[in-house]
Amino acid sequence: MKRTRIIELLRGELVGQTVLVKGWVRTKRGNKAVSFIALNDGSIIHNLQIVVDLEKFDSELLAKVTTGASLSVTGMLVASQGQGQSVELQAHEIEVLGTADPATYPLQKKGHSLEFLREIAHLRPRTNTFGAIYRMRHHMAMAIHTFFHERGYFYVHTPLITASDAEGAGQMFQVTTLDLDNLPRTEDGAVDYREDFFARHTSLTVSGQLEGEMAALALGGIYTFGPTFRAENSNTPRHLAEFWMIEPEVAFLEIDENMDLAEDFIKYCVQWALDHCMDDLTFLAEHFDSELISRLRFVLEKPFKRMTYTEGIEILEAAIKGGRKFEFPIYWGADLASEHERYLVEEHFQRPVIVTDYPKEIKSFYMKLNDDGKTVRGMDVLFPKIGEIIGGSEREADLEKLMKRASEMGVPEKDIWWYLDSRRYGTAPHSGFGLGFERLLLFVTGMTNIRDVIPFPRTPRNAEF
Ligand code: ATP
Ligand code: MG
Ligand code: MG
Ligand code: MG
Repeated sequence: MKRTRIIELLRGELVGQTVLVKGWVRTKRGNKAVSFIALNDGSIIHNLQIVVDLEKFDSELLAKVTTGASLSVTGMLVASQGQGQSVELQAHEIEVLGTADPATYPLQKKGHSLEFLREIAHLRPRTNTFGAIYRMRHHMAMAIHTFFHERGYFYVHTPLITASDAEGAGQMFQVTTLDLDNLPRTEDGAVDYREDFFARHTSLTVSGQLEGEMAALALGGIYTFGPTFRAENSNTPRHLAEFWMIEPEVAFLEIDENMDLAEDFIKYCVQWALDHCMDDLTFLAEHFDSELISRLRFVLEKPFKRMTYTEGIEILEAAIKGGRKFEFPIYWGADLASEHERYLVEEHFQRPVIVTDYPKEIKSFYMKLNDDGKTVRGMDVLFPKIGEIIGGSEREADLEKLMKRASEMGVPEKDIWWYLDSRRYGTAPHSGFGLGFERLLLFVTGMTNIRDVIPFPRTPRNAEF
């Protein structure tokens, strides 16, 4: 017999039929005559109740049915008399596929702390919470592909091993096959990378943008969606060393349209979560964040507030004059810290904010310079509870201005000669942005620590599994 997934059984259409289910035991309870097993197979957050008539089953077999064990069960699907479920399965045959020793299986009780579950990241998908998060991660990935595909953008894969530091932030993980205990040296004592695998110094990518631009200036509109790596030296609830980034890049698109694209995109993803993940959202709202669903709906209602960096600084300075305290100093020229971003979003405007026209010194070399010569056409999208969720810009399309900016920012021309070619031949206005996938997931799941929205988080001193 073919296995039927619990998500299908709970729809109730198969009542009266004999079915086969397979899954993992969440709980077992009962009395002398009957046992109730809550079985979960991952297809949906809800369990299927298996009713076991103890007279008909061997007690040795049933003793192996403990929390965490995997089972194969055949039985008759019937309407349930009990509370909490519409259908249940009357077991005819039970096979224990894999036992889970109650003395050592770590997921015995309900409601383990998120901190504890992080220590057993390899087993946490077996919990309701992480089942919900894994499923939502999948649905959000589908939303992203669907959004861009529907608009005629092409999905492009950019390399993970690169020779250039796109962000110039010096947060790159080096990639090498050299023997670190015995590095080859040139005559002047520097490491001789000619003996390395690629015969040059290479790193893991921090962003696929620069390569993505090459594709956009040929295909029109593209997006990347892949892992990126940053050696973030601090532990924050919003930074991972390995995270996934979505980076659309679009030819003939200027900054205002780029803002429209970013806003439409996030709203589309949030709407998708409401349309496809209600069971999981309801669970997460009940257990972690009672305002989750209303916050998602709220974001869809109003247009995001758009303002310049300079206006943002004025608002923050006025707040400080009014007695508001911040940990980090803020003045024209300083980058916004997440406390400033959250103030603008949560307290001042009470909705998502898009900040544009940042001082050129605090943004990357590739952003288009404004006519004032001081600010660039960058845009950050700021969200409640998170701060920056998107960083983007109109790109500098003019070869000479771009070369000047690169040299000011200390990006060597020899590293980006290929990038400069795109401005040398058939350059065109274009824009794009990067959305941190896990930041989006923080927002839609209501989780507060980024370690809880990726299956196996990579953070400082944490790469065990
Ligand atoms: P932050 O100011 O939060 O450090 P950033 O300005 O360094 O972010 P960008 O280079 O603009 O980040 O990258 C684009 C997007 O990628 C960010 O808006 C954010 O959503 C995400 N992002 C950046 N760094 C990380 C990280 N270490 N972990 C998870 N997501 C990240
Ligand atoms: Mg950063
Ligand atoms: Mg930033
Ligand atoms: Mg940024």
